[in-house]
Amino acid sequence: PERVLSGVQPSGALHLGNYLGALKKFVDLQHRMQCFIFVADQHAITVWQEPAQLAAQTREIAAAYLASGLDPKVATIFPQSAVRAHVDLAWIFNCVARLGWLDRMTQFKEKTGKHKERASVGLYTYPVLQAADILIYKATHVPVGEDQKQHLELTRDIAQKFNNDFAAPGFFPLPEPLIEGPGARVMSLRDGAAKMSKSDPSDYSRINLLDDKDAIDQKVRKARTDPEPLPADLEALRARPEADNLVGIYGALAGQTKAEVLARFAGQGFGAFKPALAELMVETIAPIGAEMRRLLGDPAELDRILADGAERAAAVAEPILEETRRIVGFWRAV
Ligand code: ATP
Ligand code: MG
Repeated sequence: PERVLSGVQPSGALHLGNYLGALKKFVDLQHRMQCFIFVADQHAITVWQEPAQLAAQTREIAAAYLASGLDPKVATIFPQSAVRAHVDLAWIFNCVARLGWLDRMTQFKEKTGKHKERASVGLYTYPVLQAADILIYKATHVPVGEDQKQHLELTRDIAQKFNNDFAAPGFFPLPEPLIEGPGARVMSLRDGAAKMSKSDPSDYSRINLLDDKDAIDQKVRKARTDPEPLPADLEALRARPEADNLVGIYGALAGQTKAEVLARFAGQGFGAFKPALAELMVETIAPIGAEMRRLLGDPAELDRILADGAERAAAVAEPILEETRRIVGFWRAV
């Protein structure tokens, strides 16, 4: 059976990149495959999160899932930390994955920069927990943004090595990433070479799902660009990362290719393009933000959805964990 696993960390304000690279894909997939969509709170604490805010941030991600169109009766929505089998399997996978594999992970290098020795051990082994998140459901498909491609390859390596080492051919599937499509890599509004991120200290780098019209207008107006009008061809656009990003966002929101966007805006300056882009953003985001606010007004209802999801997820994960424990050879009473 085809099964989807994916999630978002409650590590800050959700942005347009998360929406286009992840949430929108979940919504499109939910009626085609069995979907497990979690709030990755155990990943979030790989960097400091205020304990007093973590649960609220978790509800906020859940609200964003629902507001984007996930149906909790169709998709299973739950907090990662509420299904203990993830970390149980992650420990086993820590003993399968090799240091050399993790040393190659570029996200760890990007997130730690020059201060590697001060990063948490959890940030380093994060991709191993991610492999466990996926494989504890034997998920076959993982919709993510482009930045997660390398972690998905690691998941496949772990699955394959586990199956080989324990002579359990085919026990874990080798999951396929679902990355294609516009919006798989939305860049920062301040820097065309950095991806839009929740953890970017500058709020002007991203459009948040909870931003209002004024904030969106202002952020788009201040978005870094160059003074040239938009070009007519894609090759010229590619040489201008900031312009390329804005055209890509417009296309992803309008359901058009970059070429189609250029066909309309070529020769026009950003003075004309930016207001059109801001308007399109407001049209997409304002209804989602409004619905999120409404849902967040009733945390008890969100908690019911999350608790029910956790129960359904655990019912799938527990038997797979038991089988894995048997394959590894852990003690059990005879
Ligand atoms: P953080 O900075 O805390 O890592 P993030 O913005 O990278 O936050 P995550 O929770 O790590 O968000 O990722 C959630 C999902 O959103 C993943 O599938 C990821 O690939 C996707 N995603 C994140 N940023 C972008 C982006 N700029 N463009 C497209 N997809 C993205
Ligand atoms: Mg991230």
